[in-house]
Amino acid sequence: MSMPPAASGGSMRAIRFEEDGAHLIELPRPEPGSEEIVVQVLAAGVCRTDLHLLHDVKAGRRKALVPGHEIAGRVVDVGRDVYRVRVGDPVAVHFEQPCGRCRHCRRKRTNLCEEGHSLGFDLPGGYAEFVRGGQGSVLALPPEMDLAFAATLGCSGATAVHAVVAVGQVQEGDLVAVVGAGGVGLSAVQVARTHQARVLAVDLREEARNAAKEVGAERTASPEEFMDALRSMAGEAGADIVVDLVGTAESLEQSRKTLGVGGRLVVVAGGDDTIPVSASGILFGGRAYLGSYSSTMADFATALRLAEAGKLRSVVSRRARLSEAPDILRDLEAGRIVGRAVLEPLRT
Ligand SMILES: [Zn+2]
Ligand SMILES: [Zn+2]
Repeated sequence: MSMPPAASGGSMRAIRFEEDGAHLIELPRPEPGSEEIVVQVLAAGVCRTDLHLLHDVKAGRRKALVPGHEIAGRVVDVGRDVYRVRVGDPVAVHFEQPCGRCRHCRRKRTNLCEEGHSLGFDLPGGYAEFVRGGQGSVLALPPEMDLAFAATLGCSGATAVHAVVAVGQVQEGDLVAVVGAGGVGLSAVQVARTHQARVLAVDLREEARNAAKEVGAERTASPEEFMDALRSMAGEAGADIVVDLVGTAESLEQSRKTLGVGGRLVVVAGGDDTIPVSASGILFGGRAYLGSYSSTMADFATALRLAEAGKLRSVVSRRARLSEAPDILRDLEAGRIVGRAVLEPLRT
Protein backbone atom coordinates (compact mmCIF):
# COMPACT_ATOMS: atom_id res chain seq x y z
CA MET A 1 0.00 0.00 0.00
CA SER A 2 1.45 3.41 -0.83
CA MET A 3 0.29 6.84 0.16
CA PRO A 4 1.63 10.37 0.32
CA PRO A 5 3.63 10.99 3.49
CA ALA A 6 1.48 12.74 6.05
CA ALA A 7 2.48 16.28 6.92
CA SER A 8 3.72 16.94 10.43
CA GLY A 9 1.70 19.05 12.86
CA GLY A 10 -1.88 20.09 12.26
CA SER A 11 -4.97 18.23 13.28
CA MET A 12 -6.47 14.80 12.78
CA ARG A 13 -9.83 13.11 12.88
CA ALA A 14 -10.57 10.78 15.77
CA ILE A 15 -13.49 9.09 17.46
CA ARG A 16 -13.95 10.08 21.08
CA PHE A 17 -16.20 8.35 23.58
CA GLU A 18 -18.09 11.01 25.52
CA GLU A 19 -20.93 10.97 28.00
CA ASP A 20 -23.49 11.21 25.21
CA GLY A 21 -21.90 8.64 22.90
CA ALA A 22 -19.16 8.19 20.28
CA HIS A 23 -18.31 11.27 18.20
CA LEU A 24 -16.06 12.04 15.27
CA ILE A 25 -13.97 15.05 16.29
CA GLU A 26 -10.82 16.97 15.38
CA LEU A 27 -7.81 16.69 17.68
CA PRO A 28 -4.23 17.92 17.47
CA ARG A 29 -1.99 15.42 15.71
CA PRO A 30 0.40 13.82 18.23
CA GLU A 31 4.14 14.61 18.25
CA PRO A 32 6.62 11.95 19.35
CA GLY A 33 8.66 12.20 22.54
CA SER A 34 12.32 11.18 22.33
CA GLU A 35 11.64 7.43 22.47
CA GLU A 36 8.23 7.51 20.85
CA ILE A 37 6.90 7.05 17.38
CA VAL A 38 3.81 8.36 15.64
CA VAL A 39 1.95 5.90 13.45
CA GLN A 40 -0.52 6.78 10.74
CA VAL A 41 -3.32 4.39 11.62
CA LEU A 42 -4.37 2.31 8.63
CA ALA A 43 -6.38 -0.24 10.60
CA ALA A 44 -7.92 -0.32 14.08
CA GLY A 45 -9.85 -3.32 15.37
CA VAL A 46 -13.13 -2.86 17.23
CA CYS A 47 -13.02 -5.03 20.36
CA ARG A 48 -15.83 -5.90 22.74
CA THR A 49 -13.82 -4.17 25.46
CA ASP A 50 -14.43 -0.91 23.57
CA LEU A 51 -18.15 -1.41 24.14
CA HIS A 52 -17.56 -1.75 27.88
CA LEU A 53 -15.46 1.43 27.79
CA LEU A 54 -18.24 3.28 25.96
CA HIS A 55 -20.75 2.20 28.59
CA ASP A 56 -18.38 3.27 31.38
CA VAL A 57 -17.82 6.70 29.83
CA LYS A 58 -21.57 7.16 29.30
CA ALA A 59 -22.22 6.22 32.93
CA GLY A 60 -19.60 8.69 34.15
CA ARG A 61 -17.36 5.91 35.50
CA ARG A 62 -14.56 6.87 33.12
CA LYS A 63 -13.31 10.08 31.55
CA ALA A 64 -13.82 10.75 27.83
CA LEU A 65 -11.30 8.82 25.73
CA VAL A 66 -10.17 7.93 22.23
CA PRO A 67 -10.57 4.13 22.10
CA GLY A 68 -8.79 1.58 19.94
CA HIS A 69 -6.26 -0.95 21.21
CA GLU A 70 -5.76 -3.03 18.05
CA ILE A 71 -3.62 -0.87 15.83
CA ALA A 72 -1.56 -1.20 12.66
CA GLY A 73 -0.24 1.40 10.26
CA ARG A 74 2.83 3.13 8.98
CA VAL A 75 5.47 5.03 10.96
CA VAL A 76 5.35 8.72 10.02
CA ASP A 77 7.40 10.36 12.76
CA VAL A 78 10.05 9.16 15.23
CA GLY A 79 11.66 10.73 18.30
CA ARG A 80 15.40 11.41 18.30
CA ASP A 81 16.27 8.28 20.35
CA VAL A 82 14.21 5.81 18.32
CA TYR A 83 16.25 3.05 16.71
CA ARG A 84 13.84 0.14 16.32
CA VAL A 85 11.82 1.40 13.40
CA ARG A 86 12.09 4.01 10.68
CA VAL A 87 9.69 6.37 9.01
CA GLY A 88 7.76 4.42 6.40
CA ASP A 89 7.88 1.05 8.18
CA PRO A 90 4.61 -0.87 8.44
CA VAL A 91 4.05 -1.73 12.10
CA ALA A 92 1.57 -3.21 14.51
CA VAL A 93 1.30 -1.45 17.85
CA HIS A 94 0.71 -3.14 21.17
CA PHE A 95 -1.59 -1.05 23.33
CA GLU A 96 0.24 -1.63 26.61
CA GLN A 97 2.77 1.07 27.39
CA PRO A 98 4.54 -0.41 30.42
CA CYS A 99 6.88 1.61 32.63
CA GLY A 100 9.78 -0.83 32.25
CA ARG A 101 10.94 -0.32 35.82
CA CYS A 102 8.38 -1.73 38.24
CA ARG A 103 8.59 -5.15 39.86
CA HIS A 104 6.42 -6.78 37.21
CA CYS A 105 8.19 -5.12 34.28
CA ARG A 106 11.53 -6.32 35.68
CA ARG A 107 10.10 -9.84 35.43
CA LYS A 108 8.80 -9.22 31.93
CA ARG A 109 5.22 -9.41 33.21
CA THR A 110 4.54 -6.13 31.47
CA ASN A 111 0.83 -6.93 31.23
CA LEU A 112 0.70 -6.44 35.01
CA CYS A 113 2.75 -3.21 35.10
CA GLU A 114 1.95 -1.09 38.14
CA GLU A 115 2.71 2.25 36.52
CA GLY A 116 1.81 1.63 32.92
CA HIS A 117 -0.66 3.22 30.57
CA SER A 118 -2.64 1.72 27.72
CA LEU A 119 -3.53 3.11 24.30
CA GLY A 120 -7.29 3.24 23.92
CA PHE A 121 -7.84 3.27 27.68
CA ASP A 122 -5.99 6.08 29.47
CA LEU A 123 -3.95 7.20 26.44
CA PRO A 124 -5.42 8.11 23.02
CA GLY A 125 -5.95 4.94 20.98
CA GLY A 126 -6.29 3.84 17.40
CA TYR A 127 -9.74 5.16 16.46
CA ALA A 128 -7.85 8.08 14.94
CA GLU A 129 -5.75 9.03 11.95
CA PHE A 130 -2.58 9.01 14.05
CA VAL A 131 -1.49 7.43 17.29
CA ARG A 132 1.60 7.84 19.48
CA GLY A 133 3.34 4.99 21.30
CA GLY A 134 6.68 3.96 22.80
CA GLN A 135 9.13 2.36 20.39
CA GLY A 136 9.15 -0.76 22.56
CA SER A 137 5.46 -1.31 21.86
CA VAL A 138 5.68 -1.81 18.11
CA LEU A 139 6.58 -4.73 15.89
CA ALA A 140 7.74 -4.18 12.33
CA LEU A 141 5.57 -6.11 9.88
CA PRO A 142 6.42 -8.08 6.78
CA PRO A 143 5.63 -5.80 3.81
CA GLU A 144 2.97 -8.06 2.31
CA MET A 145 0.90 -8.45 5.47
CA ASP A 146 -2.71 -7.27 5.50
CA LEU A 147 -2.74 -4.41 8.00
CA ALA A 148 -6.30 -5.08 9.17
CA PHE A 149 -5.25 -8.58 10.16
CA ALA A 150 -2.03 -7.24 11.70
CA ALA A 151 -4.05 -4.79 13.82
CA THR A 152 -6.12 -7.58 15.34
CA LEU A 153 -2.99 -9.37 16.53
CA GLY A 154 -2.57 -6.68 19.21
CA CYS A 155 -5.57 -7.83 21.22
CA SER A 156 -7.33 -10.80 19.57
CA GLY A 157 -4.10 -12.57 18.70
CA ALA A 158 -1.88 -11.67 21.65
CA THR A 159 -4.65 -12.11 24.24
CA ALA A 160 -5.35 -15.58 22.85
CA VAL A 161 -1.68 -16.53 23.01
CA HIS A 162 -1.42 -15.26 26.58
CA ALA A 163 -4.54 -17.17 27.67
CA VAL A 164 -3.92 -20.47 25.90
CA VAL A 165 -0.11 -20.72 25.99
CA ALA A 166 1.34 -18.48 28.73
CA VAL A 167 -1.42 -19.04 31.31
CA GLY A 168 -3.23 -22.16 30.04
CA GLN A 169 0.04 -23.96 29.24
CA VAL A 170 -1.62 -25.95 26.50
CA GLN A 171 -0.03 -29.25 25.55
CA GLU A 172 -0.35 -31.63 22.65
CA GLY A 173 -3.50 -33.71 22.92
CA ASP A 174 -5.19 -31.44 25.45
CA LEU A 175 -8.89 -30.89 25.18
CA VAL A 176 -9.46 -27.15 25.19
CA ALA A 177 -12.91 -25.61 25.54
CA VAL A 178 -13.14 -22.03 24.27
CA VAL A 179 -16.22 -20.33 25.69
CA GLY A 180 -17.15 -17.31 23.57
CA ALA A 181 -16.13 -17.39 19.90
CA GLY A 182 -15.60 -13.68 19.21
CA GLY A 183 -12.33 -12.17 17.95
CA VAL A 184 -10.22 -13.47 20.85
CA GLY A 185 -12.10 -16.79 20.91
CA LEU A 186 -11.54 -17.53 17.22
CA SER A 187 -7.86 -16.73 17.73
CA ALA A 188 -7.75 -18.96 20.83
CA VAL A 189 -9.17 -21.86 18.82
CA GLN A 190 -6.35 -21.47 16.30
CA VAL A 191 -3.60 -21.03 18.89
CA ALA A 192 -4.75 -24.22 20.64
CA ARG A 193 -4.75 -26.05 17.31
CA THR A 194 -1.11 -25.05 16.65
CA HIS A 195 -0.31 -27.10 19.77
CA GLN A 196 -2.24 -30.09 18.43
CA ALA A 197 -4.95 -29.65 21.02
CA ARG A 198 -8.52 -30.70 20.36
CA VAL A 199 -10.91 -27.78 20.57
CA LEU A 200 -14.54 -27.42 21.52
CA ALA A 201 -15.88 -23.91 20.84
CA VAL A 202 -18.97 -22.68 22.67
CA ASP A 203 -21.06 -19.73 21.56
CA LEU A 204 -24.70 -18.66 21.56
CA ARG A 205 -24.58 -17.60 17.92
CA GLU A 206 -24.65 -20.11 15.09
CA GLU A 207 -22.52 -17.86 12.83
CA ALA A 208 -19.83 -17.66 15.49
CA ARG A 209 -19.91 -21.45 15.89
CA ASN A 210 -19.54 -21.87 12.13
CA ALA A 211 -16.59 -19.47 12.12
CA ALA A 212 -14.98 -21.48 14.94
CA LYS A 213 -15.36 -24.65 12.93
CA GLU A 214 -13.81 -22.98 9.93
CA VAL A 215 -10.67 -22.07 11.89
CA GLY A 216 -10.20 -25.54 13.32
CA ALA A 217 -12.59 -26.33 16.18
CA GLU A 218 -13.31 -30.06 16.19
CA ARG A 219 -16.75 -29.47 17.64
CA THR A 220 -18.97 -26.55 18.48
CA ALA A 221 -21.84 -26.20 20.90
CA SER A 222 -24.33 -23.70 22.21
CA PRO A 223 -24.01 -23.04 25.98
CA GLU A 224 -26.89 -25.51 26.59
CA GLU A 225 -25.11 -28.21 24.58
CA PHE A 226 -21.70 -27.53 26.20
CA MET A 227 -21.74 -30.34 28.74
CA ASP A 228 -23.05 -32.99 26.32
CA ALA A 229 -20.61 -31.97 23.59
CA LEU A 230 -17.72 -32.20 26.02
CA ARG A 231 -18.86 -35.61 27.22
CA SER A 232 -18.99 -36.88 23.66
CA MET A 233 -15.38 -35.75 23.15
CA ALA A 234 -13.84 -36.64 26.51
CA GLY A 235 -16.24 -38.97 28.30
CA GLU A 236 -16.13 -38.19 32.02
CA ALA A 237 -12.58 -36.82 31.85
CA GLY A 238 -13.64 -33.22 31.29
CA ALA A 239 -11.62 -30.45 29.70
CA ASP A 240 -7.90 -29.92 30.27
CA ILE A 241 -8.27 -26.20 29.72
CA VAL A 242 -11.38 -24.04 29.68
CA VAL A 243 -10.81 -20.54 28.34
CA ASP A 244 -13.74 -18.43 29.53
CA LEU A 245 -14.12 -15.29 27.44
CA VAL A 246 -17.62 -14.52 28.71
CA GLY A 247 -17.10 -14.21 32.45
CA THR A 248 -20.70 -14.30 33.64
CA ALA A 249 -21.89 -16.41 36.57
CA GLU A 250 -23.55 -18.79 34.08
CA SER A 251 -20.47 -19.26 31.92
CA LEU A 252 -18.12 -19.54 34.90
CA GLU A 253 -20.34 -22.15 36.54
CA GLN A 254 -20.43 -24.20 33.35
CA SER A 255 -16.71 -23.76 32.83
CA ARG A 256 -16.10 -24.96 36.38
CA LYS A 257 -18.33 -28.00 35.92
CA THR A 258 -16.71 -29.06 32.67
CA LEU A 259 -13.14 -28.73 33.98
CA GLY A 260 -11.47 -32.12 34.30
CA VAL A 261 -9.06 -33.41 36.93
CA GLY A 262 -5.82 -31.43 36.63
CA GLY A 263 -7.64 -28.89 34.49
CA ARG A 264 -7.00 -25.17 34.24
CA LEU A 265 -9.82 -22.66 34.10
CA VAL A 266 -8.51 -19.52 32.43
CA VAL A 267 -10.70 -16.45 32.90
CA VAL A 268 -10.20 -13.78 30.24
CA ALA A 269 -13.29 -11.62 30.79
CA GLY A 270 -15.17 -10.59 33.83
CA GLY A 271 -17.38 -8.35 35.83
CA ASP A 272 -18.56 -8.68 39.38
CA ASP A 273 -20.24 -12.09 38.98
CA THR A 274 -19.20 -14.78 41.44
CA ILE A 275 -19.47 -18.57 41.66
CA PRO A 276 -18.94 -20.83 44.66
CA VAL A 277 -15.80 -22.96 44.53
CA SER A 278 -14.95 -25.25 47.45
CA ALA A 279 -11.42 -25.78 48.70
CA SER A 280 -11.81 -29.52 48.24
CA GLY A 281 -13.10 -29.02 44.72
CA ILE A 282 -9.85 -27.26 43.89
CA LEU A 283 -7.61 -29.52 45.96
CA PHE A 284 -8.80 -33.03 45.12
CA GLY A 285 -9.11 -32.43 41.43
CA GLY A 286 -5.80 -30.59 41.30
CA ARG A 287 -7.63 -27.86 39.45
CA ALA A 288 -6.25 -24.38 38.78
CA TYR A 289 -8.33 -21.21 38.56
CA LEU A 290 -6.36 -18.61 36.68
CA GLY A 291 -6.77 -15.07 35.41
CA SER A 292 -5.30 -14.12 32.05
CA TYR A 293 -4.93 -10.37 31.95
CA SER A 294 -4.00 -8.63 28.71
CA SER A 295 -0.76 -9.76 27.04
CA THR A 296 2.95 -9.02 26.74
CA MET A 297 5.14 -8.10 23.78
CA ALA A 298 6.33 -11.72 23.79
CA ASP A 299 2.74 -12.91 23.29
CA PHE A 300 2.29 -10.28 20.58
CA ALA A 301 5.43 -11.48 18.80
CA THR A 302 4.21 -15.08 19.03
CA ALA A 303 0.88 -14.07 17.49
CA LEU A 304 2.70 -12.34 14.63
CA ARG A 305 4.97 -15.35 14.11
CA LEU A 306 1.95 -17.68 13.92
CA ALA A 307 0.28 -15.29 11.49
CA GLU A 308 3.36 -15.14 9.27
CA ALA A 309 3.53 -18.94 9.28
CA GLY A 310 -0.10 -19.12 8.17
CA LYS A 311 -1.13 -20.86 11.39
CA LEU A 312 -3.18 -17.96 12.68
CA ARG A 313 -5.67 -16.81 10.11
CA SER A 314 -7.40 -13.48 9.95
CA VAL A 315 -10.59 -13.06 11.96
CA VAL A 316 -11.43 -9.82 10.13
CA SER A 317 -14.92 -9.97 8.68
CA ARG A 318 -15.70 -6.33 8.02
CA ARG A 319 -13.87 -3.12 7.14
CA ALA A 320 -15.34 0.30 7.72
CA ARG A 321 -14.61 4.02 7.69
CA LEU A 322 -13.59 5.80 10.89
CA SER A 323 -16.89 7.70 10.87
CA GLU A 324 -18.77 4.39 10.92
CA ALA A 325 -17.42 3.46 14.36
CA PRO A 326 -20.76 4.14 16.11
CA ASP A 327 -22.58 1.79 13.68
CA ILE A 328 -19.95 -0.91 14.12
CA LEU A 329 -20.24 -0.67 17.90
CA ARG A 330 -24.02 -0.96 17.64
CA ASP A 331 -23.71 -4.05 15.45
CA LEU A 332 -21.15 -5.56 17.80
CA GLU A 333 -23.47 -5.03 20.73
CA ALA A 334 -26.33 -6.65 18.81
CA GLY A 335 -24.18 -9.71 18.05
CA ARG A 336 -24.13 -8.96 14.32
CA ILE A 337 -20.35 -9.08 13.94
CA VAL A 338 -18.56 -12.41 13.61
CA GLY A 339 -14.83 -12.20 14.37
CA ARG A 340 -13.53 -8.66 14.07
CA ALA A 341 -14.61 -5.46 12.38
CA VAL A 342 -11.75 -3.10 11.57
CA LEU A 343 -11.82 0.67 11.04
CA GLU A 344 -9.67 1.96 8.19
CA PRO A 345 -9.19 5.74 8.55
CA LEU A 346 -8.03 6.17 4.93
CA ARG A 347 -11.12 4.41 3.58
CA THR A 348 -13.38 6.83 1.69
ZN1 LIG B 1 -9.46 -6.09 23.06
ZN1 LIG C 1 5.99 -1.45 34.98
